[in-house]
Amino acid sequence: MAKIRVYNLAHELDMDSKEVIEILNDLDIEVSSHMSTITDETAELVKGIYAENQKAEAKTDTATEELEVEQNLTETEAKTNALEIETPITVKEFAEKIDEAPNNLIVELMNMGVMANVNQSLDEDTLELLAEELGVNIEFKSEAKEQASLRVGPEIEDKEEDLEFRPPIVTVMGHVDHGKTTLLDSIRESRVAGSEAGGITQHIGAYQAEVDNKKITFIDTPGHEAFTAMRARGAQLTDIAILVVAADDGIMPQTEEAINHAKAAGIPIIVAVNKIDKANAQPDRVKQELTEYGLVPEDWGGNTICVNVSALQQQNIDELLEMIILVSEMEELKANPNRLAEGVVIEAELDKGRGPVATLLVKNGTLKVGDPILAGLTSGRVRAMFNEFGESLAEAGPSAAVEVLGFNEVPAAGDFVQVLEDERQARDVASDRQDEKRQSELKSDAKVSLDDLYKQI
Ligand code: GDP
Ligand code: MG
Repeated sequence: MAKIRVYNLAHELDMDSKEVIEILNDLDIEVSSHMSTITDETAELVKGIYAENQKAEAKTDTATEELEVEQNLTETEAKTNALEIETPITVKEFAEKIDEAPNNLIVELMNMGVMANVNQSLDEDTLELLAEELGVNIEFKSEAKEQASLRVGPEIEDKEEDLEFRPPIVTVMGHVDHGKTTLLDSIRESRVAGSEAGGITQHIGAYQAEVDNKKITFIDTPGHEAFTAMRARGAQLTDIAILVVAADDGIMPQTEEAINHAKAAGIPIIVAVNKIDKANAQPDRVKQELTEYGLVPEDWGGNTICVNVSALQQQNIDELLEMIILVSEMEELKANPNRLAEGVVIEAELDKGRGPVATLLVKNGTLKVGDPILAGLTSGRVRAMFNEFGESLAEAGPSAAVEVLGFNEVPAAGDFVQVLEDERQARDVASDRQDEKRQSELKSDAKVSLDDLYKQI
């Protein structure tokens, strides 16, 4: 018997896969995702129901309009009282919290491409998207987030006239083996300024590429895990996501996850359709699949930029970089280079010879040698800075990634970094924070021992 994929049927009927899955569920036919196949017979059934629904819809259109007005009103009302969600939280707990049937959530999640059971914990990005789908307003209560985004003093807003364009900060995401590392390596080898001079790049967690004298900062840890971990700590580093999809494999589970994370972060996605050198590459099939996630390619009338590339053979890499610049210019990414620096720790370690070494990404201002600096629970003074070639720098402006020596202890990835007026203040704040942390650890230790006590009784 002939079979058809859910998304192909949806495409034919100009519907969302989600709606098709809903109809199938109503018919008690189990499908796991838009990739699932159904028989032609079932497809005919769906078409019939779709036609009926169309007729019914025409009648109720006016009624829905009125309803929508009402809904918009409740939405604005909801904004003022967001539900506070403490993570981690399971599907079941979340369902209780928002007063929904757990099964409804599982169906919604399935439509988002997330297979979950009631006892599964959901990450914040997924929760955010899920809440949006359901029209509920949530807010996360997370200790880690509060810690990482701690700033000494109020946030100082820059005046419009002090702002200058800064390079975009880009993260490469996608399914395993689709070519993220190869793409990052290929860009680093061929487009990093200074590479002609024979400079050997070192892995410091990020690097800058150059096209037409414009810079792009690439975070060198591919995959959305690092991206999500950073966001969970309150650090939104990335301006643009590059979604790598292998043209011989198409959209896979981690591709879906990456799309969800980028959407939750509200950052633009540029798709690199990779491995087009392969004989079995089907770039158009990838584009077809992308439309199912609301990513409609530009040449198909949408606004998602897709570039066919071969990371391995370095084909069309320039075109991809130009698209990144184009998108970054539309995003108007700006910063004020003439102020004390703020940034985020991307990675840090204890080096035997050099002491604590941290790679920082400067988000705003200019970081200078000699600056008193605070990052999470540790402080110090910038003793020396290096770029990805190991060259010593006196200062680093917005979007630059630099290796910094001079912290008293090793900071944590995701820590908010701030330059302060004087070193003593930085040291005092760091030691206050350490005290606080010790106190809360003592408290949680006490809880554990009490639990243990009850167990023994
Ligand atoms: P990652 O897991 O996404 O980081 O993928 P890798 O970069 O490690 O690549 C996985 C495999 O695909 C490696 O064997 C690469 O050599 C290969 N690969 C990556 N890009 C291309 C490409 O453009 N063309 C071909 N033919 N192979 C590629
Ligand atoms: Mg890799």
